[in-house]
Amino acid sequence: MYEPYPVPELARDHKKSRYSSLRTFAKQDLKLLAFLLIIAAFIGYGTGYFLLCAVFAFAVFFAFQLYSLYLVNEWISNRPYEVPPNLNGIWGALLFNFYRAQRQERVVQAEMVGLIDRAQSSLVALAEAVVLTDELHQIEWANPAAEALLGIQALDRGRNLLTILRHPRFIEYFSHIDQYPDGIRVKLSIEDEKYVQIKLTRFGSESLLLVAYDVTRMQNLEQMRKDFVDNISHELRTPLTVLSGYIETFTDQEDISPRWKRAFDQMQSQTRRMNALVNDLLLLSRLENEKQIPKNQIIEMPSLMNQLFDDAQAYNADYGHTLNLEIDSHYDLIGSDMEIASAFSNLITNAIKYTPKGGSITIGWHDDGEQAYFSVEDTGIGINPKHLPRLTERFYRVDSARSRQSGGTGLGLAIVKHVLMQHAAHLEVESVENQGSVFKAVFPKSALYFVD
Ligand code: ADP
Repeated sequence: MYEPYPVPELARDHKKSRYSSLRTFAKQDLKLLAFLLIIAAFIGYGTGYFLLCAVFAFAVFFAFQLYSLYLVNEWISNRPYEVPPNLNGIWGALLFNFYRAQRQERVVQAEMVGLIDRAQSSLVALAEAVVLTDELHQIEWANPAAEALLGIQALDRGRNLLTILRHPRFIEYFSHIDQYPDGIRVKLSIEDEKYVQIKLTRFGSESLLLVAYDVTRMQNLEQMRKDFVDNISHELRTPLTVLSGYIETFTDQEDISPRWKRAFDQMQSQTRRMNALVNDLLLLSRLENEKQIPKNQIIEMPSLMNQLFDDAQAYNADYGHTLNLEIDSHYDLIGSDMEIASAFSNLITNAIKYTPKGGSITIGWHDDGEQAYFSVEDTGIGINPKHLPRLTERFYRVDSARSRQSGGTGLGLAIVKHVLMQHAAHLEVESVENQGSVFKAVFPKSALYFVD
């Protein structure tokens, strides 16, 4: 480890500080010269060689200056970190000022080294893996946790990060860092199977800081939760089908008393709700398990939009809204038609449900050359801005009673969010309470297919 040079005490600081100005020191030299010249004048007066004595005095003064210069050079070359020789005159001032500047610099340097040392030892103690790479993505430094978590050893210094972390998802992340603001979660199997959350941050010109931590426990808990919801939804399906079958048979009977009829009608609407809930839960769990969904179909947007519009008109029968359809984009979508249709249809039914009778709803497909938008605009009840950040959470409702009354499961927007995520798209919502809302599904160019 780098040891800072010991900083010696400046023994004569207090004395020298009085003379640190160059002018004061120059006066000392002048006094010496004057002293030598006076002596030379006396000797010259006594001997009669006045000029010779003066030249000799100058020569002594010059020799003294040369000797001082020799001492200065000797100190700078051989022992610059020790206390400088005690010189008077202009050389003494130069030496002192040089030594003081150098000492201050060493104090700052020692502080910096101490700071770096402290930062380094705290990084070494971290349970999170920390790796630094240079502009060429070669590993410069890694803490011990990086070995346990990512398999990066001390010997790997100087090697390219991508030759060690070769997981396809990491390579993809590495080339598009900005597209993953929260980093990525990957499954690594160094000894046991581990799930690791990795985040890359750029610093300096092109250097990278990698921070990774173990999320295996969190991943297992999440998986347990998903499996539980998936299993319970599957288990509920069969009893629900049997119940709805019987309830339907009873409801259809003609000799049934009005009291029982009302009871069966209610049972039927509740079993329908439960069915819708189970179906939505199963769809969500399928969406979370990304691999099962093929996302390479070309979805013909004009035909999908017309289909959605026809369905909307049927659903609109009880509401009497004015429905409009706008298609002015030549792009088709690349993805999974069933999931996309289900997401768009959720947005449309929401607009119809949450708009008081006789409103206006516009369904649109537009693009700006870079991105394409599926939008649903309504003149409905709107949403207070404070609800917007949580709107796509499962079972999050602005008004629970209203949502239940309109047959909502509270999962519609969660499904929309997941479907869009799978298509590299996202949802934008603009809404003003009591005026209406615009829900926009925004698709990047990578999910679009241009049709002439
Ligand atoms: P729900 O089944 O309750 O409709 P969603 O997930 O589809 O569940 O929507 C969540 C909540 O967002 C709804 O309960 C409703 O409060 C609000 N919401 C969704 N769409 C609209 C809309 N177009 N206008 C006003 N509120 C809406």
